[in-house]
Amino acid sequence: MIIHGFNKTTLLDYPGKLACSVFTGNCNFRCVFCQNASLVLEPENEPVISDREVLDIIEKRKNILQGVCISGGEPTLDPGLRDFIIKVREIGLPVKLDTNGYMPDVLEGLLRDGLLDMVAMDIKSDLEGYAEIAGLDHFDRERVQKSVDIIINSGVEYEFRTTVVKEYFTEKTAVGIGEWLNGAKALYLQAFRDSDDVMVQGLHGYDSEDLLRFRDILRRYIEKVEIRGTDAG
Ligand code: SF4
Repeated sequence: MIIHGFNKTTLLDYPGKLACSVFTGNCNFRCVFCQNASLVLEPENEPVISDREVLDIIEKRKNILQGVCISGGEPTLDPGLRDFIIKVREIGLPVKLDTNGYMPDVLEGLLRDGLLDMVAMDIKSDLEGYAEIAGLDHFDRERVQKSVDIIINSGVEYEFRTTVVKEYFTEKTAVGIGEWLNGAKALYLQAFRDSDDVMVQGLHGYDSEDLLRFRDILRRYIEKVEIRGTDAG
């Protein structure tokens, strides 16, 4: 697997666990609010850390770590993903996969073979706004729908998460996502944070009050809806 980033310790990326995070490059989306634009657009210009080196560090820290989060970019595009996960599991640590859900067959295979302990899937928007936010000319909604269904029915711990950007998210978006994911277990609303590496410059986040309003709308449909990245609770 081609690894472009490695965070040896995090309490943020794997809920309830002291974990390390591994970041792959490349993506099949071009989300307007992507925080890792350089990793997505020009992975060849990003530093590479050998997976052997990363696995050695994980092995050495296995008594401290409680899990490994694999994120990106989009990890399901990397042909080495499965082997890497198998090696992490041989070390004895659970694996969480972050994905945009656009490679449902890869996801299905990993879940079917019991290789994942948790999945976090981005929900970019309601289905109507998906193509625009994901930056795709041709968006195949069936692929995202398939991943949602696979995850909900997998029996594995999961969460959906949505980055909330003022220019693209309204109450209508919240209702659309709620109706779509009705009955799902958990959705996290992530406050948008601007930076120099965001795909489209000039976007804005909502304040806490607005995020709470969206949270309350979504709670009509989804068991657990929480906000991340702000003081709002
Ligand atoms: S935010 Fe979008 S473009 Fe960026 S890595 Fe995630 S899915 Fe890919």
